Amino acid sequence: MAVHNFNAGPAALPASVLAKFRDSLIDTDGTGMSVLEWSHRSPEYDRVRFDAEARLRRLLGLPGDDSWVVLFLQGGASLQFAQIPLNLADSARPGHYLVTGVWAKKALEEAERLQRGRSLWSGKAENFCALPPDGMRFAPEGAAYVHLCTNNTIYGTQWAELPDTGAVPLVCDMSSDILSRPRPFEKCSLIYAGAQKNLGPSGLTVVALRRSLLDRQAAGIPAILDYRAHVEADGLYNTPPTGAVYLMGLVLAWIEEEGGLTKVGARNRQKAARLYDTIDRSGFFRGTAARESRSDMNVTFRLPTEALEKSFLERAEREGMVGLKGHRSVGGIRASLYNAVELASVEALVSVMHEFASAHGAKF
Ligand SMILES: *Cc1c(COP(=O)(O)O)cnc(C)c1O
Repeated sequence: MAVHNFNAGPAALPASVLAKFRDSLIDTDGTGMSVLEWSHRSPEYDRVRFDAEARLRRLLGLPGDDSWVVLFLQGGASLQFAQIPLNLADSARPGHYLVTGVWAKKALEEAERLQRGRSLWSGKAENFCALPPDGMRFAPEGAAYVHLCTNNTIYGTQWAELPDTGAVPLVCDMSSDILSRPRPFEKCSLIYAGAQKNLGPSGLTVVALRRSLLDRQAAGIPAILDYRAHVEADGLYNTPPTGAVYLMGLVLAWIEEEGGLTKVGARNRQKAARLYDTIDRSGFFRGTAARESRSDMNVTFRLPTEALEKSFLERAEREGMVGLKGHRSVGGIRASLYNAVELASVEALVSVMHEFASAHGAKF
């Protein structure tokens, strides 16, 4: 059965990538072994990880010199919530957090648990439906860094422009919109993302940081959590998620073949605009994010009643649509439109929305 996968993460992967992965799974790159069986210290795996890193650097626009470090870690974005303050902050110089949703809040709470975090701005009073206005400046005195979440997966909000933080390093959780559009990476000092939304399978976390940040690192943290330990071991401090890195490499090659971030970003814009337009013209569906904060990655909306939402979800499910139920903390509907979700899936959803709304008296 053809499925339209709107899962929030783990999420859709490009069909051509999955086919390549299948074809190479048993005998990868002519080695007579599967990538899953290779040593992580073999020349074969070196080729895979160096290739993935080179593609990632190109796509992110990171400089070609060694001023940035790229690490392939585990533990998800959630481990970074702790690892970042452990490495970069202390109680006299805490990280400052822009609390724009549940993930951003969890990042702050983890830093607070370590007495290294402080809230700088919170959208909780408005139920996280909006981000701070464009052009706002956040450069707090005595901050180790400013942390923000570029796309708020649960609420469907996304920073259009990254704010100015002056000389304070900007740390970005990009788990749900990394490589979905061009971003000025020179504004950031550390970016991180769990791979399972836009980069590949779960189990892999990408962290890229300015090498200069390593100099300000705190002492006395467990080696496995110390960025320097990973850098000094050239990315092989312990066994990396080799299979996940391989699959991410295929996804990165696919993004390059598709024309890079400008092309992919335009397509993502088009997909999201199609849904927002349907919502806005219906007089039936109600978008939950403030217009100027709307996300291209996660489109969140409600129907007039919860009973109608339930019946809409059942209807969509019968058409092979998966993953449209909103996050359990907010309810409603959420369509996640990561890079691999095709316009045809969005068109299929729009058509169900039209039918359903018309059947309930809406006039487009
Ligand atoms: C999904 C998500 C997370 C959690 O990621 P894990 O890899 O499960 O730890 C964190 N931040 C954002 C923005 C997310 O979308």
